[in-house]
Amino acid sequence: MTALRLTDVTLTLGDGDETVTALDRVSLEVQPGEFIAVIGPSGSGKSSLLAVAGALTTPTAGDVRIGDTDVVAASRRERDTLRRTRIGFVFQSANLVPALTALDQIRLPMTFARGVEGRDPRELLAEVGMEHKANRRPHELSGGERQRIGVARALVTRPELLLVDEPTAALDRQRSHEIVGLLGREAHDHKVATLMVTHDHDVLRHCDRVYEMIDGRLAPAE
Ligand code: ADP
Ligand code: MG
Repeated sequence: MTALRLTDVTLTLGDGDETVTALDRVSLEVQPGEFIAVIGPSGSGKSSLLAVAGALTTPTAGDVRIGDTDVVAASRRERDTLRRTRIGFVFQSANLVPALTALDQIRLPMTFARGVEGRDPRELLAEVGMEHKANRRPHELSGGERQRIGVARALVTRPELLLVDEPTAALDRQRSHEIVGLLGREAHDHKVATLMVTHDHDVLRHCDRVYEMIDGRLAPAE
């Protein structure tokens, strides 16, 4: 089954004379195990796309489905449960909790995901190449290491959909390739439908398909 399906999604933000069409009739499908990139300049609507796909923002018009769940028709409570149990998020800066060790960061989403049979946090830690730093706190890790933990944390609940916003914005070129390569392997090996938005053209070779966003409109990249 298609993991994520957006059909003719429009999102208008702001009010009165100051409205912005952040998404303009966007349609997109992501299958289980597929790694899709959306490239586009700042302000083109990339984060808005992830907010709608992640059930954080309700579109002005159009249809959003995650698996067979109609996200627009769902109640606020159903959307909360959906986010905690079926979607993983990775942000530009890993947004780790300063007081927690690397291993505890990975465990944290499981405390909000009732009924989910998650992955083993220690195995995930090893899979992202961080088993030797299980007890480090974020200030003792490099930017690339923090982002590895952020990816592991997003995967611990076995999400069917992973949404990734500019994961390499704070990383050098080599670290960028490591993180995006890791996302691609996880997508393929664990059948996670992965949607990444970025303005980093350099990492697109790791992706299965690339789209371009311009002024809220989505089209296959040239
Ligand atoms: P990107 O992630 O590609 O930089 P965004 O999705 O953040 O783009 O923004 C798309 C457009 O929507 C921009 O013009 C931005 O200024 C506008 N926008 C984003 N959030 C809001 C908001 N809460 N209210 C009004 N306009 C917004
Ligand atoms: Mg953005």
